[in-house]
Amino acid sequence: MSDDVAIHVRGLRKAYGDTVAVAGLDLDVHRGEVFALLGPNGAGKTTTVEILEGYRHRDAGEVRVLGADPTEASPHWRARVGIVLQGTGEFDELTVAEVLHHFAGFYPDADDPDKVIARVGLAGKARARTHTLSGGQKRRLDVALGIIGRPELLFLDEPTTGFDPEARREFWDLIRDLSAAGTTIVLTTHYLDEAEALADRVGVIAGGRLVEVAPPNSLGDRQEALATVSWRTPEGTLESAQSATPTALVTELAARFGGEVPGLTVTRPTLEDVYLRMIGHQ
Ligand code: ATP
Repeated sequence: MSDDVAIHVRGLRKAYGDTVAVAGLDLDVHRGEVFALLGPNGAGKTTTVEILEGYRHRDAGEVRVLGADPTEASPHWRARVGIVLQGTGEFDELTVAEVLHHFAGFYPDADDPDKVIARVGLAGKARARTHTLSGGQKRRLDVALGIIGRPELLFLDEPTTGFDPEARREFWDLIRDLSAAGTTIVLTTHYLDEAEALADRVGVIAGGRLVEVAPPNSLGDRQEALATVSWRTPEGTLESAQSATPTALVTELAARFGGEVPGLTVTRPTLEDVYLRMIGHQ
């Protein structure tokens, strides 16, 4: 395995009784990459990620994360891996600052807790008790706990669920900053715009297998897909045509209309379109 591979998985399998959650999954994540795992409910994302984090034992397969088998992980390995689980974020009577300072003590090279609090947008809540935080603020605290140890590799499980639109944008900026500083990031999400905004590559899991891995703009041969050109006829009805050469069609329409084409739109399949088609085939 070369040094630029952060995660290497071959033939991963995991069943819970009769339920096969992961059915022979292969995956490589490069160092410094932002990798998004997409997939419908029950596809096997959380099981896969928990195995990579060392929280779940696999039935079969080869798994290396930062060069080690997570089931045999040392404390040193744990300190290099940051994990943001779905909804911890509540520590009774402790304040945000107290929690962060406390957790910073667990890491050999922790970041400055006050800086991390500011980074996740909780500076105004540093002295608030964690049980008084809103849902979105608790998620920010989860993220702060995931990055306090300055991880080389950060796992984020549905990180922005419950965030308002502004908080999501701020969170995306934080992920971009972490990525620019060299952190490898693996996130699961149900938000396709989030995957598109953040990920270098997207992996689609369905039925416990990775069915495709590609940059978001080329998933499912999206770039080569036909464009749909729509316009309004002089009678006011909407017409549309699929075209591999939409510019030529628009030029022809412009000539036909003698200039401006009423109601003109040119679209290609969105990430959501190709994703739904892909999981529909499974
Ligand atoms: P979601 O998007 O809903 O979070 P997911 O892709 O993360 O789904 P998993 O949580 O990995 O999916 O679940 C995969 C399959 O394994 C599902 O059928 C689920 O019901 C089953 N499963 C997960 N955890 C357990 C468990 N502890 N015991 C039994 N079955 C489980």
